Amino acid sequence: MKQEDNCIFCRIVRHEAKASVVMETQDLIAFDDIHPQAPVHVLIIPKKHITNLNSAGQDDLDLMGKLLLAAHEVARLKGIEESGYRTVINTNRGAGQSVFHLHLHVIGGRRMTWPP
Ligand code: 5GP
Ligand code: ZN
Repeated sequence: MKQEDNCIFCRIVRHEAKASVVMETQDLIAFDDIHPQAPVHVLIIPKKHITNLNSAGQDDLDLMGKLLLAAHEVARLKGIEESGYRTVINTNRGAGQSVFHLHLHVIGGRRMTWPP
């Protein structure tokens, strides 16, 4: 069985699982997090299954650039580009990764604390 078959985010990409989609391009899809940690909490994922940053390679340079630029687009669409937003990628369990398909969190709409 391929990793993609059982991956919840691949199922969202294939529109087999429901999601509240914020934007979609040829390479990426962005949707609201099911357990939002702030008024705005969107996940942006590559349509290609990449487990996490440890599995991204030179072939993914263009894709990774698009992922980062999409964060601004999501912030603009959600009306938080000026108030501010945090972008987070958790890699492996020690950092809090719970879904093993690369995703960029875009979080905003409230005051963020630092360190997280
Ligand atoms: P991680 O903890 O891996 O960095 O982030 C995974 C995120 O995915 C969590 O914030 C969690 O709430 C969200 N999530 C997990 N399953 C689903 C799902 O089926 N749909 C949506 N929209 N979000 C999900
Ligand atoms: Zn996947």
